[in-house]
Amino acid sequence: MRLLLVEDDSLLAESLAEALEDKGYRVDIASHARKASALMASEAYSIAILDLGLPDASGLDLLERWRREGKCLPVLALTARDSWSDKVAGLRRGADDYLTKPYHEEELLARLHALLRRGRGSMETIMKVNDIWLNEETGQVSRNGEAWQTLTATEFCLLRYMMRHPRRIHSKASLLEQLYALDQDVASPNLVEVYIGRLRRIIGKDRIQTRRGQGYVLPSN
Ligand code: CA
Repeated sequence: MRLLLVEDDSLLAESLAEALEDKGYRVDIASHARKASALMASEAYSIAILDLGLPDASGLDLLERWRREGKCLPVLALTARDSWSDKVAGLRRGADDYLTKPYHEEELLARLHALLRRGRGSMETIMKVNDIWLNEETGQVSRNGEAWQTLTATEFCLLRYMMRHPRRIHSKASLLEQLYALDQDVASPNLVEVYIGRLRRIIGKDRIQTRRGQGYVLPSN
């Protein structure tokens, strides 16, 4: 399990990396945003820990950029700041969980474990619901493994979310939350309809059903 640890406090980073390696993670440390970007672009990480206070950039901006680029790995944000508004901003801008410093190492390890379990049931990179196959590494979708098509980051995140929760009715508001995670400035309820329309053209009209007044369902047998 490869983990990117973005933390500019070198003592903290070293001791955390040691604890993580004891738990079987393969850890790369980035002490500033530029190195974190370079590593994220070249390596395949399963999860990241991101300190929001970095010397050369805001951790939130970095996170936002990752999400915009379609990096959907779970991210645990760390911060010294403790205000509720920061927490909401952080989660909206794409963090999966949030821990305020100082934290207990045990709690951090437990949160990581929970994120990984929530994020991915197994190490399979192809997620399947009926005849819809989604490759989580490449962001491509196909019907039964044929004619793979590349999705945009937004299409990918929405479809993956619906595939993780098939048969559930997703309200526009809950899908909008997924778009917020990518870019809160452009998210609006109409955008949900636009992306559902695009996904239907790609995977088939009947693969996403409309429940009038309630939302959308990805049916599964
Ligand atoms: Ca810091």
